[in-house]
Amino acid sequence: MKSQQQYPQKISLEFFPPRTPEGMEKLKTVIQDFGQFSPDYMSVTYGAGGTTQEKTLDTVRYIQSETAYNAAPHLTCIGATHESVLALLDTYQAIGVKRIVALRGDLPSGMMDPGEFKYASDLVAFIRQERGDAFHLEVAAYPETHPQARNCEVGIKWFKHKVEQGADSAITQYFFNLDSYLQFVDNCEKHGIDLPIVPGIMPITNYENLIRFSQGCGAEVPRWLKCRLESFEDDKESLLAFGQEVVQTLAQKLLDAGSPGLHFYSMNQTQPTLDIVKSLTFKN
Ligand code: FAD
Repeated sequence: MKSQQQYPQKISLEFFPPRTPEGMEKLKTVIQDFGQFSPDYMSVTYGAGGTTQEKTLDTVRYIQSETAYNAAPHLTCIGATHESVLALLDTYQAIGVKRIVALRGDLPSGMMDPGEFKYASDLVAFIRQERGDAFHLEVAAYPETHPQARNCEVGIKWFKHKVEQGADSAITQYFFNLDSYLQFVDNCEKHGIDLPIVPGIMPITNYENLIRFSQGCGAEVPRWLKCRLESFEDDKESLLAFGQEVVQTLAQKLLDAGSPGLHFYSMNQTQPTLDIVKSLTFKN
């Protein structure tokens, strides 16, 4: 963890683009509520294959023009063409976006054409080639290894390659096992990978959703945690209280170990993330 301790500890937040006007109104309130923590930036997810392109853009526009915060659009390249990415970059530059979360994404079912980019590293290289340093580029990292990587060493090899194409920092997939992050960062250090690797934090608010989500993205919900959450059955209040205690403890341990801040998967909800952030002590 030595290399990570040189970076300041910052908070960033992730939202998904609301599908309805009501959802957008709710998100505006959520964004206001987070103002007290001066988040470094607010990222907005993007449906792979461009499926949320307009809604992502609307949300990014709102953050850039109507709030005091910096928006960081996610950009998935699977199914995209060089031309479509350049058009999106033009739009983002025109509205003052300075940071992009550059991803591969997963081809949506039914979509056959993978487009002109194969991996996130191709997108990072392309943005650097076309736009120089106009954007701070975030990439994804997987402390528990990406589900498609043959093993963790292969995962690290391709992660290093992606970083070398011009990534500035990384955000991890969420995890509940502190050691997975500490081991990953140490392994990155051994491979000469030198950039801030910010842990992604998922507040626990719903058992079924958490299990479904985790199966989809390859994040492990440890057996002890699963058992405890399962035992709350319909007692949502106790589940929330327990979930908060678990995630708060994890987040504090990460900060104490010197992680460069935390990136919260807010799920467009204020309270779970806010309650965790309020309880934390930062080193700097
Ligand atoms: P890559 O870095 O390209 O890696 C994908 C796989 O390919 C890995 O197994 C890697 O080891 C392997 N690989 C990489 N390069 C090579 C190579 N040259 N040769 C062979 N193998 C290689 N998804 C969305 O659809 N929208 C979002 O907004 C979104 N936001 C995310 C935000 C974060 C912080 C994270 C962690 C994930 C997010 N995802 C999102 C999910 C992400 O798109 C998936 O995890 C996807 O499967 C991989 O994307 P990537 O950018 O990590 O891909």
